[in-house]
Amino acid sequence: MGPTVAIIGAGFGGLCMAIQLHRAGIGSFTVFEKGDDVGGTWRDNTYPGAGCDIPSHLYSFSFERYSSWTRRYPGQPEILGYLEECADKYGLRSRIRLNTEVVSAAYDETLGRWRVRAADVAEGRESEELFDVVVSAVGQLNRPHLPEIPGMSSFAGPSFHSARWDHSQDLTGRRVAVIGTGSSAAQLIPPVAEAAGHLDVFQRTPNWVIPKPDAAFNRAARAVFHHLPFTQRVYREWIYRYAEGTLYRALAGGWSTGLLRKRALDHLHAQVPDPELRAKLTPDYPIGCKRVVIDSAFYPALTRQNVDVVTDRIVRIVPEGVETETGIREADAIVYATGFLTTEFLVPMEIAGRQGRRLHDEWKDGAEAYLGIAVPNFPNLFLLYGPNTNLGHNSIVFMIECQVRYIMGCLPHLTERGPMEVRPEAMDTWRRALDRAMDHMVWQAGCASWYKNAAGRVTNNWPGSTPLYRRLTREPRPSAFRFAR
Ligand SMILES: Cc1cc2nc3c(=O)[nH]c(=O)nc-3n(C[C@H](O)[C@H](O)[C@H](O)COP(=O)(O)OP(=O)(O)OC[C@H]3O[C@@H](n4cnc5c(N)ncnc54)[C@H](O)[C@@H]3O)c2cc1C
Repeated sequence: MGPTVAIIGAGFGGLCMAIQLHRAGIGSFTVFEKGDDVGGTWRDNTYPGAGCDIPSHLYSFSFERYSSWTRRYPGQPEILGYLEECADKYGLRSRIRLNTEVVSAAYDETLGRWRVRAADVAEGRESEELFDVVVSAVGQLNRPHLPEIPGMSSFAGPSFHSARWDHSQDLTGRRVAVIGTGSSAAQLIPPVAEAAGHLDVFQRTPNWVIPKPDAAFNRAARAVFHHLPFTQRVYREWIYRYAEGTLYRALAGGWSTGLLRKRALDHLHAQVPDPELRAKLTPDYPIGCKRVVIDSAFYPALTRQNVDVVTDRIVRIVPEGVETETGIREADAIVYATGFLTTEFLVPMEIAGRQGRRLHDEWKDGAEAYLGIAVPNFPNLFLLYGPNTNLGHNSIVFMIECQVRYIMGCLPHLTERGPMEVRPEAMDTWRRALDRAMDHMVWQAGCASWYKNAAGRVTNNWPGSTPLYRRLTREPRPSAFRFAR
């Protein structure tokens, strides 16, 4: 039977946790999902051009390889389809409560269990249930960030965030403003530019952009992947090693930094012939400090006749468009490609641990967790894709699998010895090691990025290599934990 487990979220993380519990014969779990289907990121981001920028042979579960990917970097519908297939294959649907948002979780010390309160999203009706273990799988990029620009509500036309794309709006022939030039913007700008009559792209800071070597897998290639499964394994391993061997080294100030920078500059020169536009698009901070954009269609879209890159500071939104310091740029529709609330982990849930300690009070200087997974004073609470586990160079699914394996390794311990809680000493040692490793990383180089909280602390990224993370999370070390029994 095993412990009862509440899993919050049904994206890659929540589904991975549920699958591994199912495979281990532990059926006593419930997945709470506030959305109307599984998929997380890949359910929410339906903007034109949405897709991954880590090849899907790696950006997928290692235990659920898939020979049907139609291309190296498939689009959102295909990735969502993969996750739906996984949910069906492992019979998870009956264990997933859709349209149900966890609003709070409080640890009951007398019972040694969690009181999880969830609300029916449509009706707001709340109910409470007891669980032995809570696993948060709410992701880092789940809550859209809208900028605070005066006058936003005064705009006369439709406006929406990239992660809440309004498909009822036909942008064909219209004047469109896209605010932001990060990874989502880079993907949606080419198709929007093609459809729109005119497109203004508002850029605050240019991003480093490297090519995306996308290609379709023809039927023969897919047949090889299907009939010779080891070829998928080999291909996956090759992508993984390339990402680790070159991209990670560049972020850590290693041998490939210059190479990556040259690759980005060559890409810019090859795709943007106009020196004035090129100057606008050339970053003045070290490559990797912000998330590197991986895209081959972004620059060509910016060179189109009907596209302007606007770098004037936005002053306010007015009914007829976007007012900058040099005047009003008229628009029929505004798209906010302005990212996510990344450093506010587990918000807006209220999580209370031992002695009623609020997780958000513990994290007032920045979210942190031992291995990104466990927090002192919060027994039997585990995090997937938690603080300091994001990557700028490799697959998040890899990290999620490491975390799920670790949590599965905790279950026999907590079943035998009662609720387990990471020791503050272990957390201190972890924090010091993390800070030391962080010193070598390019994210500290002075740029603003979604990896950092308001105080400038990098709360999101893992500073080590992924093989190191895999090693550290291979199995729990009981001495790092306090047990109730
Ligand atoms: C456009 C885009 C492209 C990306 N491309 C890549 C890529 O190429 N490679 C890569 O490695 N990563 C990529 N990422 C990062 C991506 O978020 C992760 O790879 C991965 O999808 C995270 O999965 P997750 O399950 O942790 O979180 P999510 O996919 O965000 O899922 C979290 C789920 O939790 C639910 N939830 C949240 N709060 C509650 C609550 N209180 N109660 C109930 N349910 C709740 C949400 O509705 C959601 O379904 C991309 C992200 C975006 C936005």
